[in-house]
Amino acid sequence: MQGLMMDYSLTIEKILFRARDNFPYQEIISRMADESIHRYKFINFYERTVKLMNVLRTLGVKKNERVGTFAWNSYRHLELYFAIPCIGSVLHTLNIRLFPEQLKFIVNHAEDQFIFVDASLTKLLTPLQDEFKTVKKFIVMEDGAPVDPGLKNTVMYEELLSKAEFKEDFPLLDENQAAALCYTSGTTGDPKGALYSHRSTYLHSLGICLADTLALSVNDIILPVVPMFHVNCWGIPYACCLTGSKPVFPGAHLIGKPLAELIQNEKVTLAAGVPSIWNPLYQFLKKNHYDVSSLRGLVVGGSAAPRAMIENFDKDFGVKIIHAWGMTEMSPLGTVCNLIPEIKSQDNSVKYKYMAKQGLGVPMVEMKIVDDEGKTLPKDGVSNGELLVRGPWIIKEYYKTDSEDAKSAFTLDGWFKTGDIASIDKMGYLEITDRKKDLIKTRGEWLSSVEMENFLMSHESIMEATVVGRQDDVRGEAVVVFLVPKEGHTENFNKHTLIHFLSEKFVKWQIPKESDIHVVTAIPKTSVGKFDKKVLRAQLKGDS
Ligand code: ADP
Repeated sequence: MQGLMMDYSLTIEKILFRARDNFPYQEIISRMADESIHRYKFINFYERTVKLMNVLRTLGVKKNERVGTFAWNSYRHLELYFAIPCIGSVLHTLNIRLFPEQLKFIVNHAEDQFIFVDASLTKLLTPLQDEFKTVKKFIVMEDGAPVDPGLKNTVMYEELLSKAEFKEDFPLLDENQAAALCYTSGTTGDPKGALYSHRSTYLHSLGICLADTLALSVNDIILPVVPMFHVNCWGIPYACCLTGSKPVFPGAHLIGKPLAELIQNEKVTLAAGVPSIWNPLYQFLKKNHYDVSSLRGLVVGGSAAPRAMIENFDKDFGVKIIHAWGMTEMSPLGTVCNLIPEIKSQDNSVKYKYMAKQGLGVPMVEMKIVDDEGKTLPKDGVSNGELLVRGPWIIKEYYKTDSEDAKSAFTLDGWFKTGDIASIDKMGYLEITDRKKDLIKTRGEWLSSVEMENFLMSHESIMEATVVGRQDDVRGEAVVVFLVPKEGHTENFNKHTLIHFLSEKFVKWQIPKESDIHVVTAIPKTSVGKFDKKVLRAQLKGDS
C-alpha cells in the first residue's frame, strides 16, 4: 500500500518564495570591491532575481545550459544562485583562484554559454577569452572596480537588469532537474564536476539548518567567508533564504581586519570558512581589540581544525569552533561536531579532544569505514579505513567523465568512496586521519600527516605547518615538515628543540631529520586555501 501524501517537488524557487513571503524585510549585506557596504532587503533581492530570470531568457539562455559565474561573495552572486536554476538552467560557479589551464578546462568541459563576472575580476578572464569555446558573452557586475578594456563581448549587469521586466514566470521543474555544477578543486587530481539537482539542494539546505548541525535560523547573522565559487558556499546562500538568516557577504576582503570589522559592526553570529582564514584572524584579534562577542560559532571545514585553534578561540575570545567535514561531491555537508550531553559534561581536555574530531553524520548522510577489501570495519574509534558515504545530496556519478579515476569512486552497491581515511567511535563521532593519498608510509608503518600537522600547530611558535612524504631508499618515505613561524618567532626558531617537542608524541622513526624541517615564510595553498601538498612534493622531487 502506498502512502497518500502529495508529490511535492523540492525545487529551488520554493526556497526563494519563502524568503519573499516570510522574511521580506530581512537584510542582505555585501562588502564591495571598493570597500563600500551595500544593503538591501530580501524583497528587493526577490524582485531583482525575477528580473534576472528574464534577463537570462532575453540573453537566450536555454533550459539545461550552463551559465558560469566568476565572482566574489555578494548580493549579485546570490541573485545568480537563484535566477539560473529557477529558469531550469545550471549555475556553474567558477573558482577564481584556479590556474588558467584548469579554468579553461572547466569552462570548456561544462560548455558554459555565458559568464557573469565581477568587474574587479575581468582582467583574469581577458587572456583566456579566446580559448573559451562556448562562451557567447561576459556579463559584468559593477563592483566599483574598473572593467578590463581587453575583455570583449561584454554587457553590463545593471544595465540589463534596469531594462528587464518584473514578470514572475517560474517554469514547473522536476525536482531532479540539474541546478548547479561545481568542480572539485583538483587537490588530488584533475577537477571533476559534481552536478547538484534541485532536490539535493533543497534537502541539503534543510540538513544544514537542523539544531544539531549548524542550527541556522532567523536569529542568525551569517558571514560566509567560504567563497560562493567553492563547494556551493557550503549551502549557506540557500539556507539563508530558507530560514531568513541575514547574510553578510565579505566580497574580496578575507583577511583579519575587514573580517573583524564585519563581525563587530554587523554583529555576526556565525561565520564559516577554512582554517587558513581563521588562523590569521586569531592572530589579528590577539593584537587588536575588536568586539566579537556576538559570535556563537565559527564553522571550520575544508581541512582539519587544529585542536590548538579550537582551544585558543575558546579560551581567548569565548568563541566556539564548530568543526564540520564535507566534500564538493557531498554538496558539501557530511558531519558536524556538536557535543552530546555525555561529552559536554566532561572537563575541557575531553571536550577539546572531541571538538577536534569531525563529528556526527548529518541526518540523511550514512557513513561507514571499510578495509582494503571493502569489508566494513567496526565503529570502535580505533579501526581506520576508507570512509564511504551515501545519501540524497551525494553524487552518484561525476559529470561527463568516463575516466577510471572517476568511475572507481563508487562501489557497486551504491556508496561513494571519499578517499579519506577515518575512524568512527562507538558514539558515532568521525575522525579523519588523513586523505588516502596524503598518508605517509615510513619504515612500513602509516603516519597520519594531519596528526603531525595538528601537533606542530599547537607549538607556541608555529603559525602553520604541513607534513608530506619524500621518497627515501631506507625508509620508503621520509617525513618532511614545512612550517611558518609566528610573527616575531623566526629568529629564535630552533629545529633541535622542535625535534624534542615532536618526540613527546611521535616515535623515533616518525620524527623528521633536521634537514627535512623547512622553515619557510609561506606554505603554498590550493585555490581553496588548503596546503598544496602536490606542489610541495614536486618541489621535493626537484630538489633531490
Ligand atoms: P578538493 O577535493 O579539491 O580538496 P573539497 O573541498 O571538496 O575539494 O575537499 C574535500 C576534502 O577536504 C575531504 O575529502 C577531506 O579530505 C578534506 N576535508 C574537508 N573538511 C575536513 C575536515 N573538517 N577535516 C579534515 N579534512 C577535511
